[in-house]
Amino acid sequence: PPLPELDASLLQCTYVAPDNLQPIPSLSDPSLTQQRQSTDHMIQAKWNSTSGWSAPTLCAFAPLTLSPMASCLHYATQCFEGMKVYRGHDGKLRLFRPERNCERLLKSTTRIALPAFPPEEVLKLIAALCATDAKRWLPADQPGRFLYIRPTMLGTEAAVGVQRPNEALLCIFLAVLPVLDAGSGPGIKLLASQADMVRAWPGGFGWAKVGANYGPSLVAQGEARRRGFDQILWLYGEEGVVTEAGASNFFVVWRTRESEGGKLQLVTARLDEGIVLDGVTRRSVIELAREKLPGSSSSDRDRDGDGSGLEAVEVVERMFTMQEIADAAGEGRLLEAFVSGTAWFIAPVASIHFRGQDIVVPGKGVYTGFLKRCLTGIMWGCDGWQAHEWGFVV
Ligand code: PMP
Repeated sequence: PPLPELDASLLQCTYVAPDNLQPIPSLSDPSLTQQRQSTDHMIQAKWNSTSGWSAPTLCAFAPLTLSPMASCLHYATQCFEGMKVYRGHDGKLRLFRPERNCERLLKSTTRIALPAFPPEEVLKLIAALCATDAKRWLPADQPGRFLYIRPTMLGTEAAVGVQRPNEALLCIFLAVLPVLDAGSGPGIKLLASQADMVRAWPGGFGWAKVGANYGPSLVAQGEARRRGFDQILWLYGEEGVVTEAGASNFFVVWRTRESEGGKLQLVTARLDEGIVLDGVTRRSVIELAREKLPGSSSSDRDRDGDGSGLEAVEVVERMFTMQEIADAAGEGRLLEAFVSGTAWFIAPVASIHFRGQDIVVPGKGVYTGFLKRCLTGIMWGCDGWQAHEWGFVV
């Protein structure tokens, strides 16, 4: 008979007693910058290769017990997701396209030899944890707050052999993060990566959200911070193909040369080489830009009027190089650049340091600002966006 699937309807809840609930930190609490604060509860589900998934549990947030032999501690049999639950201006709690994160988690677990599961069951577990904790941790009279949701799966089998783990643990918790609006300042400063620090390569696993992509990036990231940059812009290959920035996707707005039509383009790396993560924010930016900005091929788009003051933009997914950005900047054709992702949201880029020079991004951020306003509206249920299908009300 088939082994039991992960089944959210079997969730067993053991709640923290009211007297033992933690106080809710205020947003100005300086300790939040350390990113160590969890909410009161977490969800766990265990799997093993002989009996399948056991009933998931919701219980007090607490340390895990793992054997020192556990597979994840040695062979990086680990993957995770990152998403947020938002307290809307209409008082509702929303997730943003969460089914995409759950499907991406399944792709990641499959890549790292961890067990499969129905993605919609993980979404039900996430919603259950949010219903338990986010209601209190995101006070209804404080719209604009959010919690960070971290689902993670670990290979837990206590066996030193190098093999597919026969035991795994799915764990979901919520973290309180400070509100970081990297978009409100002059823009972030990126440092282009060097040839000895490559994040991802064709045939590898850069497209998966496995921890093995992140640990090895921290040397370059630490060096960037030490030198006063905010993030690494990850390049690939001798030609310096631009992939993504830190744990965010990367976009430029430029104008093609007159000889190529002088068209305004929104450009980001394509996914099919497998060296870029399929970001939920990236995909949403592309879809919103195609739907809401006046398109170069159809002048009748944007009937809602929102982006009507803006010039037509062609949305392009292709591999492009650092030299193309440098040329566009040198020829006055570079307008804007921004990063997109759950953590940094939409953050304009002010400059990119590449081979000893700072490429300055001059734009006023008109397109960046437009796309950010659309996403903000959907995530926080602002007027006119409350019923958008990307908002998943908890
Ligand atoms: N690239 C990488 C490497 C990331 O880790 C993330 C964060 N998940 C992103 C891009 C942005 O993805 P998303 O918009 O889904 O947060």
